[in-house]
Amino acid sequence: MQENIVIRGAREHNLQNVSLTLPRNKMIVFTGLSGSGKSSLAFDTIFAEGQRRYIESLSAYARQFLGQLNKPDVDDIEGLSPAICIDQKAHSANPRSTVATITELYDYLRVLYARIGRPFCPNCDKPIRKLTAEEMVDLIMAEAREKLAAGAKPKKKGADNEVAIMAPLVRGRKGEYHQMLYDFYNSGFAWVRVNGRVRSLRNRLVLDRNLRHSIELVVDRLPLVGFGAGGKEAQARLAEAVEAALKNGEGLVLAVYPDGEEHLLSSQFSCPVCGFSFPEIEPRLFSFNSPYGACPTCHGLGVKDFFSTDKCEDCQGKRLRHESLFVRVGGKNIVEFTGQDIGAAAAFVDGLKLNERDSEISEAVMKEIRGRLKFLLNVGLHYITLDRTAGTLSGGEAQRIRLASQIGSKLVGALYVLDEPTIGLHQRDNELLLNTLKNLRDIGNTIVVVEHDEDTILAADHLVDFGPGAGKQGGRIVAQGPVPDVFDQADSLTVQYLTGKRRVSVPAVRRTKSRDRLKIVGAAENNLKNIDVEIPLRRFVCVTGVSGSGKSTLINEILHNSLSNKLNGTSHPIGRHKAILGAEYIDRVVMVDQSPIGRTPRSNPATYTGAFAHIRDLFASTEEARLRGYRPGRFSFNVPGGRCENCEGNGTIGIEMHFLPTVYVTCDVCRGRRFDRETLEVKFRGKSIHDVLTMTVAEADEFFADIPFVHDKLSVLNQVGLGYLELGQSATTLSGGEAQRVKLAFELSKRAGGRTLYLLDEPTTGLHFEDIRRLLQVLQALVEKGNSVVVIEHNLDVIKTADYLIDLGPEGGDGGGRVVAEGTPEEVAKYADTHTARYLKRALA
Ligand code: ADP
Ligand code: ADP
Ligand code: ZN
Ligand code: ZN
Repeated sequence: MQENIVIRGAREHNLQNVSLTLPRNKMIVFTGLSGSGKSSLAFDTIFAEGQRRYIESLSAYARQFLGQLNKPDVDDIEGLSPAICIDQKAHSANPRSTVATITELYDYLRVLYARIGRPFCPNCDKPIRKLTAEEMVDLIMAEAREKLAAGAKPKKKGADNEVAIMAPLVRGRKGEYHQMLYDFYNSGFAWVRVNGRVRSLRNRLVLDRNLRHSIELVVDRLPLVGFGAGGKEAQARLAEAVEAALKNGEGLVLAVYPDGEEHLLSSQFSCPVCGFSFPEIEPRLFSFNSPYGACPTCHGLGVKDFFSTDKCEDCQGKRLRHESLFVRVGGKNIVEFTGQDIGAAAAFVDGLKLNERDSEISEAVMKEIRGRLKFLLNVGLHYITLDRTAGTLSGGEAQRIRLASQIGSKLVGALYVLDEPTIGLHQRDNELLLNTLKNLRDIGNTIVVVEHDEDTILAADHLVDFGPGAGKQGGRIVAQGPVPDVFDQADSLTVQYLTGKRRVSVPAVRRTKSRDRLKIVGAAENNLKNIDVEIPLRRFVCVTGVSGSGKSTLINEILHNSLSNKLNGTSHPIGRHKAILGAEYIDRVVMVDQSPIGRTPRSNPATYTGAFAHIRDLFASTEEARLRGYRPGRFSFNVPGGRCENCEGNGTIGIEMHFLPTVYVTCDVCRGRRFDRETLEVKFRGKSIHDVLTMTVAEADEFFADIPFVHDKLSVLNQVGLGYLELGQSATTLSGGEAQRVKLAFELSKRAGGRTLYLLDEPTTGLHFEDIRRLLQVLQALVEKGNSVVVIEHNLDVIKTADYLIDLGPEGGDGGGRVVAEGTPEEVAKYADTHTARYLKRALA
């Protein structure tokens, strides 16, 4: 295997014919402004080609789709290994997936429970044990001797002082059982017990077919005195009786003593008290995907149906059949096990006291379980319960869980491509995560990480910095080489930030004037400990704390959902709390997240900001358009009239690919121009409507400089650093960070200002130091207009710039959920002793 990966002539998206050599078996970090081309090289070129070659190596059936699978625009890549992509997109929307199943931990738990789990009776909660015939004989002997020694007397007067051995035949079922009893009589049995009364078989027994009966066959009656000293004879006779009872009673033996006491013994898993027969204990019993283990009512979903969030009434959301919950290891059933968070589960496993036999049987399985829990702890996920469903995880959490699973797979010689694995992680947990990546490298893999985080860059072996700008102004490599030698290359913006030549500056003063505030009273959702939180308004407020401390629960589930329902008329589910005071100080609440600005490829920066409506009016008002009678709708690609009907104005046509994602090809009628020939003939200042849609925001801003309606919308896009985007670039191709800034620009362009509350959850995702500096300017501008901004962040450049901090903690999960510090950054750094305060001190110094 060669030592390097050699890429020649990469031109995907904005890449400018990039060639470069990457060292194998190293940790390589890609940095650069948002939109500079990092993902285009990492995911759309290196990973895409690795995956394409993998498919090429598969069956002929898979290969027939290859021609249609776009080869990335690159001349050649040498030394490529099988590539694995770990990004933040939610891959499995399967409602059955949980943290335990995704990591395969659950497969091992099922085996553990099947091998060493102790079954208990679901009715009496007594331990259940399989007995051999010999063990039964010994047991009955011992019990009979005890009775004899205690001077047992027959319960009923006139009854014999005997131990009866019986075979249970029927338990509480309707029927006459005439033939059955007759057959037993013919094979030499003389007595049965029906509903507790011993009766002779010699007389014809007539049972009411409409009543429920319990019937036991009396196999033998042994005088109690026979069990005295010696007792050899009694023992031999008892052994015979037990064999006969087992045979006729389907594995069950009932011993009835003179004093009326009874003991049901089972050679299967069944309850010695009530006789409940336990299902075979095998791994399937603990699988909610198997009909054998799943709750029969909800088929293992745990909810009423696919679309409901109401718990299944039968299993209470536990997803398994009732009996499965009565098998325990160390006192916990499998649902109680997975109900623990990862930290608690690891401690529980470490504290398990197993006997010699059990620890021998479970050694291999335990090793896998311990290993997987450790990998999860090492990526900072101790606060997550093992039964959390995939859909409730944040993108960063899902990514780190998949990372942990990969390490468990022990794959060697692969190329891993990761997208900002530090998202959602507090500085405190960065080091653990980085050690995990190094571990993946050290076992013989190559790691390519797209990352902005300083710790990650410093921990990497090799740095590749993209730029110099974004979009058309990017797509080149500005600096590259081993860390830290590469820090000599001073042209790179990244290097300038790392060496302190450039920095996000700490504001000279914090806003403290406004007295208006929101007060959340009695917040108690998830891990929040019934807390009251005050949020000052008309300031830039930052909510901090380690992962899992409760930030999203407080800000998204409680504050946002409640205010949005009140002010915007939505109907989101609201997290548990008592009240929110001060809502009268704001008119509107807006969540500015990184979700796509539109789900259809028709949405783009021009349509979203409203600039396109004015542009269509401009085209309709040209002389040519008026002569031809074209109205503004003619210049829309959303309605028939002027658009290309072959592609319905998309410019591309989607081809379904069965098991692969849909592939889009350029429309061969309009050749991607989206409009019909006549419409394209209309020109505004020499440009067709299609020409305008392919301009960058910066170009268009200049082109329409004297037209206020259009200029206003475009100049804010420019201000937030999106001048490089094409006006008509489909919303679906924008990165999350780009979409977020398009939304912010739209908010900034609103003339009326004032009383809006903006909420942002980790807005620095995907952003370079320089992008963050710009983003902060936009957020500060919103506050200057009298609005309020509340941001959840781990990034210290953001935290140190805020007017006010609310720090949650002290830990994640159950160990969190309280406010541990609040005040200006200076106050928190000076007076508080929290994880955040420690890092903040250094950032402010
Ligand atoms: P980064 O990862 O550095 O943020 P990207 O590689 O995602 O940057 O994007 C580089 C440029 O290519 C950006 O201008 C982006 O808008 C553009 N781009 C990304 N994906 C597509 C696509 N599918 N079609 C067209 N342009 C794209
Ligand atoms: P942060 O935003 O500070 O990382 P979260 O508010 O996401 O923290 O989580 C706080 C606690 O609530 C954690 O223990 C987390 O595992 C738990 N939690 C969050 N969302 C859910 C959910 N949908 N279901 C169950 N538990 C959740
Ligand atoms: Zn159920
Ligand atoms: Zn077309």
